Amino acid sequence: MRRIVLLGPPGAGKGTQAALIARELRLPHLSTGDLLRSAAAAGSPLGVEADRYMREGHLVPDPLVLGVLRDRLAQPDARQGFLLDGFPRNVAQAEELATVTALDAVIAFELPRNVLVERLQDRRVCPKCHTVYNTRTRRPDREGRCDLDGTELVQRPDDRPEAIANRLAVYAEQTAPLLEYYRRRELLRPIDASGSLDAVAARLRRVILGSSDAGAPVRSSSAVTQRPRS
Ligand code: AMP
Repeated sequence: MRRIVLLGPPGAGKGTQAALIARELRLPHLSTGDLLRSAAAAGSPLGVEADRYMREGHLVPDPLVLGVLRDRLAQPDARQGFLLDGFPRNVAQAEELATVTALDAVIAFELPRNVLVERLQDRRVCPKCHTVYNTRTRRPDREGRCDLDGTELVQRPDDRPEAIANRLAVYAEQTAPLLEYYRRRELLRPIDASGSLDAVAARLRRVILGSSDAGAPVRSSSAVTQRPRS
């Protein structure tokens, strides 16, 4: 199983877990949110346009996201497989994706809404290397600074309460129907996304590798670095 989509509401831990498992399985972690944020930080016309939607917690229009994703999927490291995080977000995107690549599994992260909101509000990120922290559960060694490069941690604009509410509503309306879409195609694999980082990673690894003891143990860490994008 190597062409994998991670599906689930914002705050479920898809990006954090993808970063862990991607290293272990040597698969690229493709996050459309990260790709769009990088484009926004670089100030490209696409990035500037995407940023207007992202800040408010709305979906970026499909043609923009699809362009970014197609470019990324065309890179050589994605040929052997990938962990796709944040895409598809609606049925139209799922249908487009099916024209570009087959999938082996769609792993659905399940978590109660109150836990999602808490995780999003407490999230802090390093704007330079994308390492994810949490003000309560995964604090950096030095208050407010990234463990890896010392950069000042920030709160994503879309982790503000108004934007969180929008993102959860968008998920319920547009993304949740994908659960049924992929269930019907016999690709859906639900996992319980509650509990510690290591507990969720173990469940995820079990689903991906299909055995309870496969793979090396995931390292415990206060921080998880996402793979740099090329
Ligand atoms: P994420 O990092 O996955 O939470 O995504 C952050 C934001 O990027 C989302 O709230 C959307 O504004 C935008 N975004 C990421 N992926 C997509 C997608 N597949 N379709 C539309 N917008 C997206």
